[in-house]
Amino acid sequence: MSVDLDAIACYYRIHALGDPPTDRARFAVLRRCLPRFAELFARHGVRATFFVVGADLEEDAEGRALLAELARAGHELANHTHTHPYDFARLGRAEIAAEIDRAHAAVGACAGSAPLGFRAPGYEINAEVIELLAERGYRYDSSVFPSAPYYGAKALIMAAMRLRGRPSGSFLGSPRALLAPRGPYRPRPGSPYRRGDGDGLIELPIAVTPIARLHVIGTSLILAPSWLRRHLVQVALRAPFFNLELHGIDLADAQADEIPPRLVARQPDLRRPLAHKLAALDETLTAARAAGARFVTLAQVEV
Ligand SMILES: [Zn+2]
Repeated sequence: MSVDLDAIACYYRIHALGDPPTDRARFAVLRRCLPRFAELFARHGVRATFFVVGADLEEDAEGRALLAELARAGHELANHTHTHPYDFARLGRAEIAAEIDRAHAAVGACAGSAPLGFRAPGYEINAEVIELLAERGYRYDSSVFPSAPYYGAKALIMAAMRLRGRPSGSFLGSPRALLAPRGPYRPRPGSPYRRGDGDGLIELPIAVTPIARLHVIGTSLILAPSWLRRHLVQVALRAPFFNLELHGIDLADAQADEIPPRLVARQPDLRRPLAHKLAALDETLTAARAAGARFVTLAQVEV
């Protein structure tokens, strides 16, 4: 189980909504959603991986304290860049390195030990990113999302936004990712989406189903009708490795957390009641336990 702790401001950039909120909603993901994940995982005996944006730790002492507590409880804190730039993989080498290094320091100080894993904003990496992570002793990257249906849906939404004259702040990554292996692999030097034979850093792709490569992530489980959700989870559980990616916002309560209505209008998952979303994830974790799944943090995955 991994949770990307993207702040509300990230969704403002994706949906081109202008200046993000400066009131309570600003820190809603760390202060309101994170404790709900902690409770959910405690109920099921899950140790999870939280991908943390470095700058959020510097700006929010309350969120930082919550994360430090999770680290002490055995959860993993990993690196999700310092400022979550959607053009991360298009930046120059020095800027990419700075994004990794600043978050590395902030997350390490919060967790009490250096992060071992990385996830790129918007799932986009390149050979240089992998190289920089390996140089810094990272054990894994978990950014590859080899889902053609997800990629296609994102491309359509972005094209529609461009046509309306309000281009998304997000970017469409390389289509080569769609052919990447579904299970853990060691990337080939220079070709991060292909299996190599070295003994370097491991890539831990985000879960997709075999053949159709339907994405099995928090949003798809929350929005799917229950028969489809159960089916996706059962199929994903047949693989030896099921990397279920969630986002902090998956457990937002739009009203109680005072999420601005203009964002709620753009994000269908925010219009689902919190009780529904919790029930969907509870059911998923119960199914995983019934199937004999062993929950580990991503740093504990062995290849
Ligand atoms: Zn993110």
